[in-house]
Amino acid sequence: MSMGYTKSKGSWDALGNHLSTSYETAVAPASAGMRPGRTRRTFVRAYSGDGHVLCGGAGNSAADTLEMIRFAGGYFDANLVPHYYITDYLGSNIAVIRSDGTLVQSTSYYPYGEPHRDPAASAGFGISDPEPPMSATTSASTFFNPYLYGGKEYIRRDGLREYIYGARMCVPSETRFNSMDELCELRPWESPYLFCGGNPVRYVDPTGLVFTRRATPIVEALEQQSYKRLIESISKIVSGLCSYILSGNKERMKESINATKAYVRTINEVESLKSSQTVYDIEVKNSISDDKEIKGASNYKWRARKFKIEVLDDKAYGWIAHELKHAYQFETGKLSTGTKDDGVPFYDKDDEKEAYARGQLFGENMPTFSENEAGYGDLQNGPKQVDPKASDAELQKLANDHNAWFKANGKIYSPPIK
Ligand SMILES: [Zn+2]
Repeated sequence: MSMGYTKSKGSWDALGNHLSTSYETAVAPASAGMRPGRTRRTFVRAYSGDGHVLCGGAGNSAADTLEMIRFAGGYFDANLVPHYYITDYLGSNIAVIRSDGTLVQSTSYYPYGEPHRDPAASAGFGISDPEPPMSATTSASTFFNPYLYGGKEYIRRDGLREYIYGARMCVPSETRFNSMDELCELRPWESPYLFCGGNPVRYVDPTGLVFTRRATPIVEALEQQSYKRLIESISKIVSGLCSYILSGNKERMKESINATKAYVRTINEVESLKSSQTVYDIEVKNSISDDKEIKGASNYKWRARKFKIEVLDDKAYGWIAHELKHAYQFETGKLSTGTKDDGVPFYDKDDEKEAYARGQLFGENMPTFSENEAGYGDLQNGPKQVDPKASDAELQKLANDHNAWFKANGKIYSPPIK
């Protein structure tokens, strides 16, 4: 079914999080004096900041209803029934299975993401029209899951069917984005509208996905470690409390409270990397550094446009935690990366101290910063970080002068590529 929405508008916050899409329908002039071509807001879809909770409703009315609550790998529908995604190797949702085992939606795609079957297909389980229902009375039977190709949301906007890719929209029927890549000067040989380098069968565009596929299991394992150690440290607070009551010694209790806080901080930082617009990757390598004591590395890779972490072992939680700390420092404008010759404006001993302290939470054999300090002899003392009040031009100059990459105010700054 096609509702013929004449207009739609989206709103995003400064970081590119999708907040709402409103759909408007043409209204026939009902009385003399009413201008033709007026529109009426018929439907609004609102999102939580991270895009995980959706509400649908009739615009201005108070009758907004819950459409879906998303979770990793599926969603609850309006009746809070769980549904699970089946995905292909590109992360596209090819089927939705309801918790009772029923197949409720199946979709296959052209290479750039246009569904094979017209969404209106009634036979089988083609997706229904990617438009919201006309009224607020979304029932479980008319509701469809709009998260399709690459797990991205498929919507109709101004008559075109588009996927929401973070800050840009991709038009699968045109096999391209509908606006330029803001970092297009880094790839002058490519069209700034190109999707996945023109090879969508091989590559995915992970904008907003945050951790790559390769990094995800490693990060999840670290998070599990964090939770396990968090629980242990909480139980140590209790025994520390007992020893305080019995002997008046506060130290054990204090130590455990600090450890508990540190694990919570670790989990929060990893979660915030997950909802970043920057892609973070982890690669396990055979060698990292000439200095045998340094077993991890982190750098922003401008060609791939991702922050890449390298470690020697996917179970080396201490080093993974250390490097993820650097990722968080990069995310929050405390760390820049670049070539050593020109010097990077804010990467300092303080950053390493923080990362070593983080690493020690996860590995009994992790060195302390002072044990490895010789390897960081040329670093300045810190903390040094980006000035949050600096203008765009000042930040760009900083990147140019130091040949450094960093993130500030949600944007990656990059020097001119020689
Ligand atoms: Zn480090």
